[in-house]
Amino acid sequence: MSDQPKEGNGNEQRDKSRQSSEEQEPGPSSTPGASGTRRGSSPVDKLQGFVTNLLSKLTVSSPKPKVLESNDIDGIVSFIQSEKCKNIIVMAGAGISTSAGIPDFRSPSTGLYANIMRKYQLPDPQVMFEIGFFKKNPEPFFSLAKELFPEEMNPTPSHHFVRLLHNKGFLLRHYTQNIDGLERLAGIPGGKIVEAHGSFHTAHCMSSSCRKEHSFDWMKEKIFSETLPKCTQCDTLVKPDVVFFGENLPARFFDCMSKDFPECDLLIIMGTSLVVQPFSHLVEKVPDDCPRVLINREIVGTVDENRFIGFLEKLGAHSDFDLGTAPHMFARGMNFKSERNRDIAILGDCDDGVRKLAKALGWEQEFEKLCSGQGQKSTNQANA
Ligand SMILES: [Zn+2]
Repeated sequence: MSDQPKEGNGNEQRDKSRQSSEEQEPGPSSTPGASGTRRGSSPVDKLQGFVTNLLSKLTVSSPKPKVLESNDIDGIVSFIQSEKCKNIIVMAGAGISTSAGIPDFRSPSTGLYANIMRKYQLPDPQVMFEIGFFKKNPEPFFSLAKELFPEEMNPTPSHHFVRLLHNKGFLLRHYTQNIDGLERLAGIPGGKIVEAHGSFHTAHCMSSSCRKEHSFDWMKEKIFSETLPKCTQCDTLVKPDVVFFGENLPARFFDCMSKDFPECDLLIIMGTSLVVQPFSHLVEKVPDDCPRVLINREIVGTVDENRFIGFLEKLGAHSDFDLGTAPHMFARGMNFKSERNRDIAILGDCDDGVRKLAKALGWEQEFEKLCSGQGQKSTNQANA
């Protein structure tokens, strides 16, 4: 990786007044059988008593304060405009690039996959992204790359919104699952971007003794001319720095993650189904009072409440604790119905969502200027 994590973002004065309310983990209780729990001799009775006791303790504590004033865009806007909001982390998936004409690279839903599978007689489209297969048979991957990449790639309004967050001094880091490199084209500095699944931005010779880096433009020319990319120094195959199945995520992902998420004041999640690990777990790594905004076509990343309630019902537990809050003590995830107003969803296309947000923040003019292509080239040099 050529980019080193940058320290801080110029907002070094953290909000010291923020309460750090640690989530209470369920742990062994020293007083089993309290709170009127029936004592029983069977393991199920004991477990039931333990769970009932634990939950009654947890719900005695006073309810957590509201995070946002209201459960809508106005709530987000007044939070961003408040002293509390200094560091924003964005997490993005394929949904922010669809309006650029780039389908989700790894979801074999398009006809292109079928054509390539037939042409190369592949048993399964996933093999194209397996490193072992690629080393022996790279043509299908490059063939797919050619089909999927539009000749002209332009960042979407969603990318420009992230760039605007950077311009305003809010962007702590942008975590993307996308490998299209559109964040860089939008002028977001490389140091602010974590490409969790790598990207096409750079490519390296696969020979361990060479490892020569090759540029995106060089790789693009090879892909579009249907020439296998061979190292200009040693003639070994050159692979884009995209994370294949069977390869580790970039070290930068883990380095930045552990530093960034405890510092996050606002998390914005855009265009991702939050199903790919470990990316999907990141939503749980922010502080407990950090609001989370989901801009997506549908609700994702919620707590599986039904599963937990089903578990209690199986135990035959009967108590008066609040089932609405109890599951969050156990399974963390987002909860868009909570009265804490912590998790807010702006449903629909990402581009529409960020446009609404930019307008509500009074940033409309600057946002539209970036979208029209003016003023976005200025920091492109910083990406090299
Ligand atoms: Zn080489």
